[in-house]
Amino acid sequence: MSVRDLTILGCSSQQPTRYRNHGAYLLRWNEEGFLFDPGEGTQRQFIFANVAPTCVTRIFVSHFHGDHCLGLGSMLMRLNLDKVTHPIHCYYPASGKTYFDRLRYGSMYHEMIHVVEHPVDKEGIVEIGDDFTIEAYFLQHGVDNLGWRIQEANTRKFNPELLKAHGIRGPAVRELEKAGKIFVGDKWVSLDDVSTVRTGDIFSIAIDTLPCSNLLRIASNAKLFLCESTYLETHRDLAREHYHLTAKQAAEVAKEANAQQLVLTHFSARYQDLTDFQKEAGAIFPRTVVAEDLKQIPFPR
Ligand SMILES: [Zn+2]
Ligand SMILES: [Zn+2]
Repeated sequence: MSVRDLTILGCSSQQPTRYRNHGAYLLRWNEEGFLFDPGEGTQRQFIFANVAPTCVTRIFVSHFHGDHCLGLGSMLMRLNLDKVTHPIHCYYPASGKTYFDRLRYGSMYHEMIHVVEHPVDKEGIVEIGDDFTIEAYFLQHGVDNLGWRIQEANTRKFNPELLKAHGIRGPAVRELEKAGKIFVGDKWVSLDDVSTVRTGDIFSIAIDTLPCSNLLRIASNAKLFLCESTYLETHRDLAREHYHLTAKQAAEVAKEANAQQLVLTHFSARYQDLTDFQKEAGAIFPRTVVAEDLKQIPFPR
């Protein structure tokens, strides 16, 4: 899979609307398909988005409010039906294990897929893989709720001209990569002499929270920051009461965190038109995109 994009499968909050399905977000990144918070109807949204569900390799549930997890069982069953052979890793707050089990085994089916559960009970690094490091931090939502920060591994790129100039080729390149420096002719050549390091990108997601220090930590230097903004500033009192953010607050976080792009989502059903979300957040953080169902947002290298 060479696509790198974020597909909005739904962007409503608790209650879906005629135009906004329950939330769910698919990030296709290198060889992975990260699916976040599959709400009701996620399976069908894949069809509308023209994306095969089999690309999903990892599923993340931030918390167990229904709009973030009621599509989990049907997604797992769908992957089972499609007979995927790769493991499906599932990450969720450990305190919600009972809900996870109910959703996973909520109806009769013969489970054939390999589901690997990662219940998260403490903050920080959850997993270090060859290609990605996954971190989780608790947000402030009145229940255990995790925000995720995924960092791509740094990669080294050799410069063919510099390699040639130093007389390095064939197996010597691999030797240099392994040892860090090699002796060629009459001098030492180090990796930095012939290559550069590309810093991996960061994707961050924070859904359902009050402003808090972990929000900033999650979003810090993110290339793409997907953040809830259930309300507009006119309903800031409701946002506080229900442990949510306004568009302005999300934009302030993106700005302070030095994020490159902000995507707003999880809109209250009270708003039919989302134009004011763009205006409110864009005034503070111009690189704001307002999510809409089935929108695909590029995540370029
Ligand atoms: Zn929610
Ligand atoms: Zn919630």
